[in-house]
Amino acid sequence: MAKSLRKRLTISYIIVSLFSVLLIALFSNFVLEVQFREYVKKNIISKSNEIVNSIKENYHNGNWNVSAIENIGVNALENGMIIKVVDGDGNIVWDAKQYNSGQCQNMIAHYSSNMMKRYPNFKGEFKEDSYEIKINSNKIANVSIGYFGPFYFTDNDILFLNTLNGAFIIVSFLTVLISILLGRLISNRISDPIIRVSKSANNISEGEYENIEVVSDISEIDELIKSINNLSQKLKEQEFLRKRLTQDVAHELRTPLSTLKSHIEAMVDGIWEPDKDRLKSCLEEAERLNGLVGDIYKLSRYENDTKLNITTFNLGYLLQSIIMNFEKNLIDKGLNLVTDIKDININADKDKIAQAVVNLISNAIKFSKNGGKVYISNYLSDNKVYIIIRDEGYGISEKDLPYIFERFYRADESRNRDTGGAGIGLSITKSIIDMHKGSIKVNSKINQGSEFIIELPQDTNFLNNTWHNNK
Ligand code: ADP
Repeated sequence: MAKSLRKRLTISYIIVSLFSVLLIALFSNFVLEVQFREYVKKNIISKSNEIVNSIKENYHNGNWNVSAIENIGVNALENGMIIKVVDGDGNIVWDAKQYNSGQCQNMIAHYSSNMMKRYPNFKGEFKEDSYEIKINSNKIANVSIGYFGPFYFTDNDILFLNTLNGAFIIVSFLTVLISILLGRLISNRISDPIIRVSKSANNISEGEYENIEVVSDISEIDELIKSINNLSQKLKEQEFLRKRLTQDVAHELRTPLSTLKSHIEAMVDGIWEPDKDRLKSCLEEAERLNGLVGDIYKLSRYENDTKLNITTFNLGYLLQSIIMNFEKNLIDKGLNLVTDIKDININADKDKIAQAVVNLISNAIKFSKNGGKVYISNYLSDNKVYIIIRDEGYGISEKDLPYIFERFYRADESRNRDTGGAGIGLSITKSIIDMHKGSIKVNSKINQGSEFIIELPQDTNFLNNTWHNNK
């Protein structure tokens, strides 16, 4: 079963932090214990030397200050050391066991139990080190110092080690607590916007095209939010276009169909004579219908045809021959054609480029006012080929400009009804240019005219003759 991000992150944080604390605790405990044992061993030796020196200081002119030595001995006993001082002649000066044998035994038993508690396998025993005290190379005494060996921990030592372990346990608890808090904090920062995005995606699937306002400082999530917003915007536009298309198609079909129907009905009912003029008007309506259906068919053909048939051809010749086909339309509208056409060889799909240019020229003529000018030119720059088609016609409003390359989008509905277009030409042109990895731009001002600029790579052989429609 899928776990929530919050749970997963928190668990991972706890595992990682606990593992690190445990590792640090084990390692430092181990290093510390080894060091501490060494320290304790060295401490026993340095304490022993101190005791021997202090005893030596209490020897004056062949006499021992026994009460001072007893002080030293009692002090040492409290610190776990059993002292016996014997003078040069073998006489006992002071002996801890004689002084308090019970305390000596208790002390050794106490340290033995200290060590066994800490190290159950500790091999400890009573040890005695012997030191000679000499003055001018004359041996004046022998000091034997006994303790629980090879080393022992005093109660303070044990307290120190236990405090250290306690500190590690507290740190571990704190780390788990911080991990949980951090896990929650970070997972909230990740999951909150994701939950918001997923809700939004659900809303979008139900047709509520909303814009997610959440901003995330995690770049991937920020990208996701932007993509979903983009998707929402695109779907909204598409839905708008789809609705508009249904409306347009219904409207476009209904007008010629109802005219046809009423004309034919009138003829069938004998109200009208089926003369040439009336039949011609029926034929015109049928042709409008045919043109509309033809446009829709053309679009589906271009959308499915993703293959490019790339050849090398002279773009200048192609443009000239296309222009020749438009001569009649230009004359009919009284338009002046201004051209600046250069011979440029290009690798591209000739038929498709021709189709793209035809669509632009036919629009330039269609949306020109009678008597205006149409400019057609091409040039080569930086291995890129540019084709420019400009008119002085009606222009396109700023509000329509972003949509004109969308399928079935028509800027000025009333004018378009007269011109008869279905809003398909530019979307076909754009998909052809995209196939060639080129671009198309438009500059337009309402009532001043429009300029379409196609940019194509001169050598499109890199496209490998196929183009995969990845829309
Ligand atoms: P249509 O088949 O309607 O011409 P297009 O896809 O070719 O469809 O163009 C889409 C819309 O863009 C047109 O309906 C028109 O409103 C606008 N348009 C295209 N070219 C021009 C132009 N040269 N001048 C003014 N408007 C244009």
